[in-house]
Amino acid sequence: MSKAHGELMACLKELHLPTARTCCLELADSARREQLSYEVYLLEVLQRECQGRRQHRVERLLRESRLPLQKSLQTFDLKRLPGKVSAVTRTLLDGGFVDRKENVLAFGNPGSGKTHLLCGIGQELVRAGRTVYFSSTNLLVQELLLAKRELKLPRAIKKLSRYAVLILDDLGYVQQSREEMEVLFTLLAERYERGSVLITSNLPFSKWELIFKDAMTTAAAIDRLVHHSVILELNLPSYRVEQAKKSRGGASTDVPPADPK
Ligand code: ADP
Ligand code: MG
Repeated sequence: MSKAHGELMACLKELHLPTARTCCLELADSARREQLSYEVYLLEVLQRECQGRRQHRVERLLRESRLPLQKSLQTFDLKRLPGKVSAVTRTLLDGGFVDRKENVLAFGNPGSGKTHLLCGIGQELVRAGRTVYFSSTNLLVQELLLAKRELKLPRAIKKLSRYAVLILDDLGYVQQSREEMEVLFTLLAERYERGSVLITSNLPFSKWELIFKDAMTTAAAIDRLVHHSVILELNLPSYRVEQAKKSRGGASTDVPPADPK
């Protein structure tokens, strides 16, 4: 390697340009062959560096998001959704609702695809460079409760505020104690108009008093969530039950109907 090459590699290392470092000599050879201008060559090298950085950022954000990667929109059959829900889903993918700090509430009976759908949307948002955090509601509530006992609740909530999108899976699935409900309410109140919350629940609003215990708190929680929100009603039979029936060769028409709301 010539002296200039060695120094070039050292500079690129010092400047933290790893992709440029791996591709610049090879691109220089092809630039000479194709008689590209200096500017075009430099542009090619820097474009590769930018691409590499974007890709690494997405990979890091996906890891941090804790989204289950197998639940992507590529593996989700959007045609199974009611026409209106799939149309709304497509509009959510541009991410405008995140900028407007709007919420998404997905309702439906177990197996209707709520979690998979919101995870798929979450992954697309990460691929567009947005920050997402996914958790089962129950797990997050337990973590917040622990933080509260250590007098670190504000810090824990602030940490979550770094994410533009918070996905709370299965709200209301586990009966919560009053103390658990209080940290959940604090979280929702803190995020109101500051960041998007995406929620899946198989409890319709009419049963949310089971979650928030008293009528006042329930109304206050629903009010904050619904104020700027998109509601996805997945009134569908369970995907798993349907698949099981199909694989047994049975008709899928006798699947239990979706929960009436
Ligand atoms: P829910 O959260 O409503 O209980 P899930 O999203 O967990 O339902 O879906 C249950 C199972 O069925 C998961 O394995 C999921 O991948 C699958 N599933 C549900 N709906 C679809 C769909 N439209 N296309 C592909 N797979 C689906
Ligand atoms: Mg679910």
